[in-house]
Amino acid sequence: MKSDARVVVIGGGVVGASVLYHLTRAGWKDVLLIERGELTCGSTWHAAGGMHTLNGDPNVAKLQQYTINLYKELEKISGQSCGLHMPGGIMLAGTRERFDWLKMAKARGRYLGMELELISAEEAARVFPIIDKRHFVGALLDPIEGHVDPYGVTHAYAKAAQIGGAQVVRHTRVTDLKARGDGSWDVITEAGNVHAEHVVNAGGLWAREVGRMVGLELPVLAMQHQYLITEDLPALKGQKELLTCIDFEGEIYTRQERGGVLLGTYERAGVPWSPLQTPWDFTQSLLPEDLDRIAPSLEVGFQHFPALGEVGIRKVVNGPFTFAPDGNPLVGPVRGLRNFWVACGVMAGFSQGGGVGLALSQWMVEGDPGADVWAMDVARYGDWATLAYTNAKVRENYSRRFRIRFPNEELTAARPLRTTPVYERLQAEHAVFGDYCGLEHPLWFAPSAAEATEDVTFHRSSAHRHVAAECQAVREALGLLEISNYGKFEVTGPGTEEWLSYVMANRVPKVGRIALTPMLNERGKLIGDFTLCRLSAQRVFLICTYAAEEYYRRWFERHAPPPGVTVRPCAMEYVGLSVAGPRSRALLQGLVREDLSSAAFPFLSFRPLDVGMIPALVGRISFTGDLGYEIWVTTEYQRALYDLLVGAGAEQGLKLFGGRALNTMRIEKSFGTWAREYRPIYGPYEAGLGRFVDLQKGEFVGRAAALEERDSGGALRLVTFTVDASDADATGDEPIWHDGKVVGWVTSGAYGHSVRQSLALGYVPAALTSETSGFEIEIIGERRKALRQPVAVFDPDGTRMRA
Ligand SMILES: Cc1cc2nc3c(=O)[nH]c(=O)nc-3n(C[C@H](O)[C@H](O)[C@H](O)COP(=O)(O)OP(=O)(O)OC[C@H]3O[C@@H](n4cnc5c(N)ncnc54)[C@H](O)[C@@H]3O)c2cc1C
Repeated sequence: MKSDARVVVIGGGVVGASVLYHLTRAGWKDVLLIERGELTCGSTWHAAGGMHTLNGDPNVAKLQQYTINLYKELEKISGQSCGLHMPGGIMLAGTRERFDWLKMAKARGRYLGMELELISAEEAARVFPIIDKRHFVGALLDPIEGHVDPYGVTHAYAKAAQIGGAQVVRHTRVTDLKARGDGSWDVITEAGNVHAEHVVNAGGLWAREVGRMVGLELPVLAMQHQYLITEDLPALKGQKELLTCIDFEGEIYTRQERGGVLLGTYERAGVPWSPLQTPWDFTQSLLPEDLDRIAPSLEVGFQHFPALGEVGIRKVVNGPFTFAPDGNPLVGPVRGLRNFWVACGVMAGFSQGGGVGLALSQWMVEGDPGADVWAMDVARYGDWATLAYTNAKVRENYSRRFRIRFPNEELTAARPLRTTPVYERLQAEHAVFGDYCGLEHPLWFAPSAAEATEDVTFHRSSAHRHVAAECQAVREALGLLEISNYGKFEVTGPGTEEWLSYVMANRVPKVGRIALTPMLNERGKLIGDFTLCRLSAQRVFLICTYAAEEYYRRWFERHAPPPGVTVRPCAMEYVGLSVAGPRSRALLQGLVREDLSSAAFPFLSFRPLDVGMIPALVGRISFTGDLGYEIWVTTEYQRALYDLLVGAGAEQGLKLFGGRALNTMRIEKSFGTWAREYRPIYGPYEAGLGRFVDLQKGEFVGRAAALEERDSGGALRLVTFTVDASDADATGDEPIWHDGKVVGWVTSGAYGHSVRQSLALGYVPAALTSETSGFEIEIIGERRKALRQPVAVFDPDGTRMRA
């Protein structure tokens, strides 16, 4: 084994091998993969090898598409067969709701260029003859589905990488990792040390243990997973290969395996494997079969697929593989650890391994993943994702693998975990809470405890009228919202302004003022939207998306401030309440000594004020787009602040409102938000944030690319639509049609209660910006007429928020 390498990839499963190949393809040849056993000896070797393109996140779906299309090329380069079978796939719907879900999946597939086809149960039985069609209402056909040979794929990646200059060392365990002062690593192995500039943790089943070598507790957990292979089915003899299949209601997947059928299931009572520590002697091993555990699924399986009950079982496989809490991979550089990268938690290695390898290699070589990988970025988890949290969420995710996740559905595992001081107060007011990074936050308020539940649905839910009342209160009188679920940073010290001016696209505001600003990467794409609140010459309070706090911290490490400037994350140190609506000024004016008139405390002011006895930071801004104030206090004051505002607000008709009403009102104002309208695939001009980019202020990250975008106008445009919807609104990811062609996609949608119209925000080609009509948005399989609105549908001139 060589003693120096630019990169050491730890782990020779399908993921590590893919990373190795993609690094060589990106031009890094001095790369070494170290594997403790044979290649594939972790979870890879016994996988069912199934692959498909559909994913809840369209950006992950794109990477899955990439993976599947890669296999032929890989076979050509390596000379190694991947055992590629592409019979196509069928997804069976056993209920109307599931059929609606399939309609939405088909719609989403349109802008990914997928050719999906909805068929009836009769047609399903014709193309997939082993089902009893009485159990199904319809199905979706996907021509790009199939399966591969796990051994073949992994070796094909490894061989192609070796052809590209990489080395692979087997039967050598990495036992420790030691960071050097210059950011490089000593990789300690059973066979000696390797000095590497970069280390990639592709440890699969042992990713957690490899993480622990560097003091990292990665949120991954292995689950036991079983599939069985039947004896040959006479009906398959001489026929073309069966489609791969997902039977959602049976929670079963199948594919043909030689003359028989492979049937796997994600049972509800899934069992974690080695929840605390993965044994190092588990090599090319399996777990004892436990058919009793999957018996309920098998019973359904034999009803839905009667032919399978007529033959014996040839083999049962029970093997472990890892998941992150949300089921998506964990990829990318890790904050606080220079040149340490992860590619783990990949639960669908044969659909995702290629995309993960591509994104990670580009990230390492180019400094940017080259795609929108937010949904699988390791930085989406923070310290709150502990071992026990991960255990609860992974089990929940596993048990729901084939269940519908409704757009208004809140999952229950690992809750409540994090609560703010007003949690019980809000609970007493019948708040229905949502979970955001483990933090409980109110979504809406019910008039009574009995009504504080919501039906989960693709249509307008039982919460609709309550949210309407909350919006009405804000627009006509006064609302109070808890706003603790934002990320916050405090930047202090001499050089604060210069550094912020360099990492943010807008100018740093004057003392006492607020500025909104995008944060751009070097490619000029949006990686954040911040509110900068200037408290003094050397102190700026930053408000941003809480879910992206780790992501931002990692970015701030990369663009580290000069000595003397401190960037301190303080998300949960400051919690907040916001009052909004035409009476909000009167309410607050009664509680502070200072003059809050528009002349003295205009829109976008920010100041420390005592609210009653409570020292607070008060900003005149509201995401509702109405007159409003955000009041930030350290945690111990929040309850007192709440009591004060609620008490004083009673006379003004104060009503509590939640995140749902806020979402509706921000869409009425065409305000975008992170991970929806703002993502690293859009530029600031495309997203309508051009007015917050100051190209005159001097150099800042992404300036050259932003300048180019301004001059070219960019390819896309974020636009607002009113939609001719009836009882279901767009929620995101629906295709936008124009003149009979899919031209874009929805990023957010909701019913606009103040304007009494269904609304959607979404991206369309810039060339269509001048069009207002001819658009349609596909909601649950139906194309609904949509009118592009040239300005926000509510208070387009912003007179209310500036009042
Ligand atoms: C029963 C079953 C069925 C499945 N079916 C499918 C399917 O149909 N489709 C699909 O896409 N996926 C399927 N999977 C999941 C799939 O197996 C995983 O997504 C995939 O194997 C993950 O690959 P990996 O490289 O991340 O992990 P692993 O395969 O676990 O590889 C990690 C490697 O790292 C090595 N390693 C770890 N630590 C060290 C160290 N310290 N030093 C040296 N080497 C180390 C290990 O020995 C191992 O070889 C299935 C899994 C199971 C269990």
